[in-house]
Amino acid sequence: MARRWRCPTALNIIKPVKVAVANGSCWHSVTSHFFPRDEYFMRLALREAARALEHDDVPIGAVIVHEGEVIGLGHNERELAADPTAHAEVIAIRDAARKLGSWRLLDAVLYVTLEPCAMCAGAIVLARIPRVVFGASDPKAGAAGSVLNVLDVPQLNHRPQVESGLLAGECAELLRAFFAPRRG
Ligand SMILES: [Zn+2]
Repeated sequence: MARRWRCPTALNIIKPVKVAVANGSCWHSVTSHFFPRDEYFMRLALREAARALEHDDVPIGAVIVHEGEVIGLGHNERELAADPTAHAEVIAIRDAARKLGSWRLLDAVLYVTLEPCAMCAGAIVLARIPRVVFGASDPKAGAAGSVLNVLDVPQLNHRPQVESGLLAGECAELLRAFFAPRRG
């Protein structure tokens, strides 16, 4: 059902996506449907990501929106909490579930600055979140198509609509600026 969700005011953004084919790989163009409010909420996720810098955590932020209202916020707190599961999406999902009083985050959209990892993608499936928008891709651990695709497994009982690349440059730049001095 969520996969057919469309809005007539969508901004159609054409972006190239590398697709593996039998004799190598080639570039295809796909259309992502972003709305003006998508950028607004991704900017909130970026602001949330920047808060992770206050405690020297990798700057990744997530926002969950339900009926136009922010119901979940989270940023990476892995170092702060000494917790390998304290990822932005998991924190935002817990926040949203508490506010809704339900583990099912129906009619919600999750915005996150970096492609979800396998754990977070699993949590998105468990929470039944119908739409996910992420910024930068993560070629090392991304589980929304880069390394594996937990969000598009036909055998699982939930497959969200996924859109990627929104403000990807700004999301990636935040990460690059964080890691640059550490890599010397
Ligand atoms: Zn994660």
